[in-house]
Amino acid sequence: MTDRVMLPDSLLTQESRVFAAPPKLAAIYDAYSWAAHSLKARAWLQAAFVFNLILMPFDYLIEPSLLTATLVIRGIIASAILIGLYMLWGRQRPNWVQGATLTVLAATIMLEAGALGALGGVPLFERYLTAGLFTFATAILFFPIEFRWTVTAVATAVALHAGMIIIGPVADPLLALGISCFYSGAILTFATTRKATLRSQWKGFRSKIRELRDQEALAKLFAELQLVANLDPLTGIQNRRSTQEDIDRIWSSTAGDRPPIAFLMIDIDDFKNLNDSLGHAAGDECIKTVANKIRDAVRDGDIVSRYGGEEFLVVLTSTTASGALAVAERIRKSIASLRLENPGSPTASRVTVSIGLALWEGDQTPEMLIGRADAALYLAKHKGKNQTVIAPPPDGVGARSGPAKTHPSGKHPAKKQSPRSVA
Ligand code: GH3
Ligand code: MG
Ligand code: MG
Repeated sequence: MTDRVMLPDSLLTQESRVFAAPPKLAAIYDAYSWAAHSLKARAWLQAAFVFNLILMPFDYLIEPSLLTATLVIRGIIASAILIGLYMLWGRQRPNWVQGATLTVLAATIMLEAGALGALGGVPLFERYLTAGLFTFATAILFFPIEFRWTVTAVATAVALHAGMIIIGPVADPLLALGISCFYSGAILTFATTRKATLRSQWKGFRSKIRELRDQEALAKLFAELQLVANLDPLTGIQNRRSTQEDIDRIWSSTAGDRPPIAFLMIDIDDFKNLNDSLGHAAGDECIKTVANKIRDAVRDGDIVSRYGGEEFLVVLTSTTASGALAVAERIRKSIASLRLENPGSPTASRVTVSIGLALWEGDQTPEMLIGRADAALYLAKHKGKNQTVIAPPPDGVGARSGPAKTHPSGKHPAKKQSPRSVA
């Protein structure tokens, strides 16, 4: 596939002959066309084998003295050659081997016809040779080989025909040679038709390759665009929309049998102060650094996304409560240990984050889980920031009650809740 994508246009559009094609393209074409070519050639060889056997009783009926000759020539020699060629075409061979097949066939057919005809006497000799030329002509249409090999085979057949007419038992050699010329012309017409068919097959193949290559290039471009559309331009981590899609996918694919999932809502503390004291560009740098730290702290299959300005959502898949808390604390501590400046911050003069952690329990939707993580984050802020707060289980699940619900005013009723905070 990649090979096709890399094939340049010039190579696919130029008027090149198949057998003169660059090796790389010729190899692809051979592999592509081999099965069909082999099927046709073997079909002809099979039919010729049966036809050859059927002719044996005819030889005997036409001329009883031909019995031994037909048994030896048709029954053994020609049959063995046909079987050998049939086996040869069972596997892809070098082009010259395939090409030489037709010449071998030309010699076999003409010598077989000549030998039997000569033994049969004057009228039979010419008729057998003519029948031989006709049989050979049909082979040309079935053997998709290089034109020069076709010409070699035609020359072999015609030369043998003419040579045998000259030395064989013929009533009117001039008339016989005239007939030979007529058949030679017909055979050459077959050969050029065969050439044109091969050429159009080759052209079709090249345009198909071009089409596939363009499709692949388009698909690649589309995948790249899709990737870019899913990422946050500042940090390079997933954006909110693609995260939502991923979460929906997880929910629909694991419905009923969902492994433990934890949501971490992470927010940089006193970020407004950082922007105010160090400027917006420094703020952007800080967001990028924090995003990288978070990404480094989680496993490959986990989702890390920029959920808002300086807010991140992390989805930990297949985790336990203690595992999720360990990851949250690892994130929080690793960011604190960066000791990035935040001079205007009333909490600390360094960049810190607060984290709300919610574990999937019961029949919760992603929105509910995000709501609980958000509420826990709010509590972490409320309790002094730079800490992780675990959202209590939702109503009706587990022993605890009083999750970090959102107050109608939009504020969280911190006093009523019993979350665990870790700092
Ligand atoms: P808190 O500890 O309560 O979170 O206080 P905070 O100052 O961080 O408050 P809040 O989360 O509300 O402030 C977010 C600020 O982040 C407000 C906005 O100006 C800034 N911000 C949002 N997006 C970007 C951004 O892409 N780049 C920069 N530099 N600042 C941003
Ligand atoms: Mg903040
Ligand atoms: Mg915020």
